[in-house]
This record gives sequence, structure tokens and C-alpha cells, in this order.
Amino acid sequence: MFEVRDKDLAGRIGRLRVGEWTVETPTIMPVVNPNLRTVEPSELPDFGAEIAITNAYILYRGELRDRALDGGLRSVVDFPGPLMTDSGSFQLSVYGDVEVSSREIVEFQDAVGSDLVTPLDVPTAPGSGRARAEADLEVTQRRIEEAVDLVGERAVAPVQGSTHPDLRERAARDAASTGAGYFCVGAIVPLMERYEYPELVDCVVASKRGLPDSAPVHLFGAGHPASFALAVSMGGDLFDSAAYALFARKGRYLTVEGTKFLEEMAYLPCSCPECSRRDVEEMDEEALARHNLHVTFEELRNVKQHVREGRLAELVAQRARSHPHLLAGWRRYFEHVDWVEARDPAVKRKGVLYTGGETSRRPEVARHNRRLARVEIGPRVLFAPHDADTSRFEDDFDVVKVKPPFAYPSELSETYPCGQSVVPGKPDPETLGVTQDAVDRLIEESDFDQVAYLEFPYGLEVPGEMVGRD
Ligand SMILES: [Zn+2]
Repeated sequence: MFEVRDKDLAGRIGRLRVGEWTVETPTIMPVVNPNLRTVEPSELPDFGAEIAITNAYILYRGELRDRALDGGLRSVVDFPGPLMTDSGSFQLSVYGDVEVSSREIVEFQDAVGSDLVTPLDVPTAPGSGRARAEADLEVTQRRIEEAVDLVGERAVAPVQGSTHPDLRERAARDAASTGAGYFCVGAIVPLMERYEYPELVDCVVASKRGLPDSAPVHLFGAGHPASFALAVSMGGDLFDSAAYALFARKGRYLTVEGTKFLEEMAYLPCSCPECSRRDVEEMDEEALARHNLHVTFEELRNVKQHVREGRLAELVAQRARSHPHLLAGWRRYFEHVDWVEARDPAVKRKGVLYTGGETSRRPEVARHNRRLARVEIGPRVLFAPHDADTSRFEDDFDVVKVKPPFAYPSELSETYPCGQSVVPGKPDPETLGVTQDAVDRLIEESDFDQVAYLEFPYGLEVPGEMVGRD
């Protein structure tokens, strides 16, 4: 049902079979409100949408219900592709109560021919107590099992567990055992609304840890272009965006750096068809919604291209610079780097464009520097800057080149990632720390007879004698 084609960090490009269609992931499904339309569903593929989502609870309660039951979902949402339906859990989380059971809303979604059917899970708010989160999980798990009994692998399994990572992981494992074919990480919208990106990263990674890598994973509500690269780097495959229309109603203009208020803008920085033929004053709600969709799908294509190149980390690092809390989330990401590294390809199409700071902890660096200690060199070793001429020492020493954050035996100069990577001339303190650790570990784990170094411009400390000073 889901096949991964390309990988970078924990992100992936895949193909997901939904009903009679195949969609390429990562992708964003625009949320279609059956009653309030700014952009017609039939037009959504023109923006790049391959799948859309609508709310079954709104249909079930509203005047379109009979039409949906008679003519099927596409008679009310005219989208020429797969359609996922949501259950009313969002209404449950906002209003505390809904007038439908999980079985009823699942049977309704089945009756109208939804391609991905969501049970009425119980969203546990971030920061909720453990007992509450555990009790909610039990209910959610029973409802997933019931939905699988009713609709098989078309069932969507929501992963809850609030902000308790161990509960998220357990919930994911239990959900994966049901036979559901599709998984979503729920109740993360409040974290994004409060800019609690480090907690968001912990919740998503914990949920992913409990799921097999073969599971397609939807991050509910994570469709903002500014956080999209980070969301994909955690292994999010599908996203939904209600923001394109909701934000347009409030005069909000989406960009990859965040949301702007149209009334505060003097220029439209985008060259989509809506922005390029209008001034700020000429943007109405519909044009704004269309712009919001264009910028969302543009960033989606950008993210996929970076995954293809093996340079998603470069893109996330750029995007994270647009907001301090997003940067905090990206930094938290590296606390899970062991999990990321196990998914990250060992060799990529292009070398690392290394920009220092937190990226000194990216998996390519960690993996390379750890393997360094296994390379057989010595017993006499000379550490030297990577661009130094060491030819006159090569009869006496094995040379280890240092190109912060990397250190490598000179015979590996041309191999990935050291040879292809571009690094700044002067390393920052974080990079220097990582490089120092690699050098220290190599010396500690080896049994060298002699350690020497050629004058270092980086401030690196090598326990040995300096050679080569004329
Ligand atoms: Zn635009």
C-alpha cells in the first residue's frame, strides 16, 4: 500500500495507494469544507493537490447528508482523486462533546464511499496528566479496532498520548497491531499554535518510533509552509491544510517564513499567478486563498527536491532561521539523531553544504566520525588541516586530515561525505566541539605509538608534539 522511493534524514518520498489512485508523498491534502468554499474542489489539482480531505461530521450533521448518502462523497465534494474523511474528533476537542458514536461516523464514511475512514478518536490535549492520557488511549484503541473490523485497511489509526513520549510510542505500537493501513499523529495543533516546536518534535518522533517504517504517517494540521520541511524531516508523509482558506478569511498571507497580515504589507513578494498580476490592495479573499495554496504546494515541491538531493537538512536549517521557536524545534530534533541516523541513507547524491551550528550534529557527521575510530591507521599519526601539504611527512606518519566537522585518514579524501562536502573556513564553537570529540575519541580508542600535529588554525587541541614549524 505504501512504497518508499527516496530517503533523507527521516524524511521520505513515497507512493501511497489510496482506493483506485496512487499519490506521491509527502503531500498536502487541502481541507474542503462542504459548506464554505473559497476554491472549488475540482480546481485543487491545478495547484498540485493529489488528495483532499473533508469532514464527515459536518456532512453527517448538515443538510448535505442525504445527498452524500444518495450520490456518494464526490457528489458533494467534486474532487477528481482520493478523498479522506475526518470524524469529528476536532469538534470533540473544541466543544467537548459530539452527537455521534464512533461506529456511526465510521459507517457513515463507509456508506458515502470515503477512501480513508477515520474513527472518532479522543484527542488528549498537550500537557494533560498521565492518567487522563492513558484512559483516552484505551477508548481510542478500541475505536480503531472497531473501525478496522468495519472497513479493513481503509481505516485511519490516530496516534494520541498527549505530550507523554512513552505513551505516544505505545499508542503507535498498539495502533500498528490493528491492521489499519494509515496512521495519523493527532492533537499536535495546539503545540503548533503555541509555537511549542520542541514538544512537537518529541511527540512526532515518539509516535514514529512506535510505527513500522512501512507505515504512511499523517501529521494532522501540520500544513503550514514554514514548518513543512521540519515536518517532513521527522518522517511526516501526509499533511492537511485548512489554513489556506481559514487564513484567507482573516486577511493572512502565507509565506515560507511565516504568516503575514495583508493589511501590513506594502509589497507581494510572491510570483504566483494571483500575486504577480495584483497590488496588495487588489487581493481579495479568493485571491488570497489561491496564493496560500500556491505557496504551500511550491514549498512541497521544494522539500521533495531537497529530499532527492539529500539536502533536506540544509533546507530545514534555513527555514528554522525564520522563527526562534522553530529553531528550538530543529535543535531538539538532534536529540533524536540516533533514530534519524538509522533511517538516513549512508551515501547521498550530493555532499553536505555545511553551515555549522546545530548541523554539526547531523547524521552524516555523527556517522562518519563514529566510524573513524574503526579505520586502521598508525602506529604513528599526524593530524593536519585538510588543505595543508603533508607530503613530506607521509613516509613517517599516517595522516588524518581535519576539515571541521570531519576528521578522516587522507586516503578517504575523495569519499563521501568528506570529499564532496563544503565547509566554512573558520569553524564555529559547536563545530569545533564536535571535531575535538572525534579527534579525542580516535586517539583514546587507538593505540598509537606517536601522535603529532601540523599547526592548527582552528584552535583544536591534539595531545602530541607539533611538527613542521620552520
Ligand atoms: Zn502568491
